[in-house]
Order: sequence, then structure tokens, then C-alpha cells
Amino acid sequence: MTDRFKAILISRDTEKKQSVDTVELGEADFMEGDVTVAIEATTINYKDGLAITGRAPVIRRFPLVPGIDFAGTVIASDNAGWKAGDKVILNGWGTGETHHGAFAQKSRVKGEWLVPLPDGMSARDAMAVGTAGYTAMLSVMALERHGITPGSGPVIVTGAAGGVGSVAISLLSELGYHVIASTGRTAESDYLRQLGAAEIIPRNELSEPAKPLAKERWAAGVDSVGSHTLANVLSMTSYGGAIAACGLAGGMDLPTSVAPFILRGVSLLGIDSVMAPRDLRIAAWNRIANELDQAKLSALSRTIGFDGIIDAARDIVDGKIRGRVVVEM
Ligand code: NDP
Repeated sequence: MTDRFKAILISRDTEKKQSVDTVELGEADFMEGDVTVAIEATTINYKDGLAITGRAPVIRRFPLVPGIDFAGTVIASDNAGWKAGDKVILNGWGTGETHHGAFAQKSRVKGEWLVPLPDGMSARDAMAVGTAGYTAMLSVMALERHGITPGSGPVIVTGAAGGVGSVAISLLSELGYHVIASTGRTAESDYLRQLGAAEIIPRNELSEPAKPLAKERWAAGVDSVGSHTLANVLSMTSYGGAIAACGLAGGMDLPTSVAPFILRGVSLLGIDSVMAPRDLRIAAWNRIANELDQAKLSALSRTIGFDGIIDAARDIVDGKIRGRVVVEM
């Protein structure tokens, strides 16, 4: 049958034990939506790792195809905004959480979830950026809305060798910022410098319980780690600075005090990619297309095939993935 396509499916048995299988689905298995997309590329995000390993309750409906983002071509549409042949990107909106996701060769989704693939960008490059990179851009834009500029002072990027971190370093250094990269993998120093890091500090400088205030070291930051790391980052942010908090790779807690906020006027900016409004998404993707250096995007990404998804998903939650992993369908 021509409508059959390959997918990864996460199921649960009656004891709520999770299993992950590669299966064939058909168009009858599609969920609600008005646009069918042939998925050309997807990627392994931290959240996909949590979903496939079952380490966090990312999947909220079973059985479900995981995968929170994809790029591809519209093959059928009942939505006035899209027609067959359009090139599109999808990030979030519950895809891979409550709606069949990206680890399939086709998906039916709601047209309003899609944004156009920027001119000149391939599906592969869009997924080299992926939700991690688009979140890095949302973080940079939030810092800019706060009034942060390269003249404000250095910026810290935590989880530097990961996906969000690698793209954040690349974007910020292209914009002229002095970027301090915090990593647990100092063996990746050459890689981080290649992306544009001006200084590299070991992760453990920021991983102990934080003092309410410490010596001011940076004007701003992008934090994908959370927990003690974010608390230390806040305590070392200079007067009037801002930190964009977008991740929890080190933990979901935030053991801090109000001191940075009430004594130094520091702001904590929350970043969410999943439900971000469409105008902001389009602006972020267009800026990525124009501002992210192609050579850096190549340096921070590698490509695997469909059969490598499950192993890569396990590796990302173990902190073993450097930069971004693209899956070409
Ligand atoms: P990666 O796994 O690629 O990167 C995370 C990095 O964090 C690792 O590479 C590592 O960097 C560092 N890290 C991992 N574990 C620890 C730890 N225990 N303590 C300190 N540092 C640690 O993931 P992504 O970059 O794709 O995602 C990062 C975070 O951002 C995740 O929590 C993810 O869920 C979140 N996220 C949030 C989004 C949103 O909408 N807000 C969207 C996308 C991602 P190093 O080796 O350099 O130390």
C-alpha cells in the first residue's frame, strides 16, 4: 500500500511499562489536522531523549510517535494558508507529546502550527538548528528586548557544548558579544572556540550551592542547565543584567534568593519554544536564516539516518551529544 510509512511508536502496557518500536503506520493512523507533510528532516532534542527513555513524562498520550520538530514539504492541505509543495518547519505545539510527532516519514498537523522554511534554507539545515537552536534565538531576542547589547558586557552560555548552548554561542559571537562558555567537557574547548567562545570556564565553577550575591562577572546569559548553575549565574550577573532561562539539563529546581533581583536589578527571562506565538517564531527563524554562520552550523551538527534515532535519544540524556544531531529521512 502506498500510504504506508515508517515511524517510531512509544506504547505503554497495562502496568504503565513503556516500549519503543519501529513500526509501519498508514494515513488512517494520522491524528487531527488539516495539513499532511512529508517529513524530510528531524532532529534529536533533549526532550525527545526524555520521551524515548521514559526518564520524564513527556509523552502524555499512548501510543504516540515522538519527535518535537521537523522540516518537510506539504503533500496535501485543507488549510487556506498552505498548498502542496510548500516547504515548512514545525516546532512544538504538543507534537511528540500529545500529537504524533516527527519520528515518522509523514505527519498530519494543524496548519497554524507550521511556519515557512525561510528562503535559501534547506530542511536539513533547519533541523541542524532545530528546536534547540530556535530556542537559543528566542533567548537572544529576549535579551535584546531587555536592552542587552554587546556593549553591556560579557555573556555567559551554560550547557555550552549541547544543542542550545552551541547555537547560542554561535549567534551571540556573530552579533559581537564576548561569550563565556561554561562546559563540563573542557576537552571540547577547541570546538567551543571555533563556534565563537572567547573564554571557557569549567561547569563545576557554577555547580555548587550559590551565595546570594557573588562577584559580578557577566551582563547577561543563556542558561539551559537550571538548578545550582542558574542560581550561580544569577548571583554573578552585573547590575541591571538579564538571564534567559530556557532549560533544565542540570535540574528543574532553582535554589536561589531574591538578592540578585532586589539588590542588583537583575531580570530572569523565561523562554518557552513550545507555545511561542507564530509572529515570534517567524521572526526567530528569519533571523536564524540571516544571522547564523553556515560554517558554524556545519561544525556544530552531524547527520544520522532514521535507524540511529533511538541510540541518539539515549545519548542526549546522558550528555554524550555534542552540538546538534540531524535525522535525514
Ligand atoms: P543537550 O543535551 O544537547 O545539552 C545540554 C547540555 O547541558 C549538555 O551538553 C551539557 O553541556 C550540560 N549538562 C548536562 N547535564 C548537566 C548537569 N547535570 N549539570 C550541568 N550541566 C549539564 O540539550 P539541549 O541543548 O538540546 O537542551 C538543553 C535544555 O534546554 C534541556 O533541558 C531542554 O529540555 C531545554 N530546552 C528547552 C526549550 C524551551 O522551550 N524552553 C526548548 C529546547 C530545549 P556541557 O557538556 O557543555 O557541560
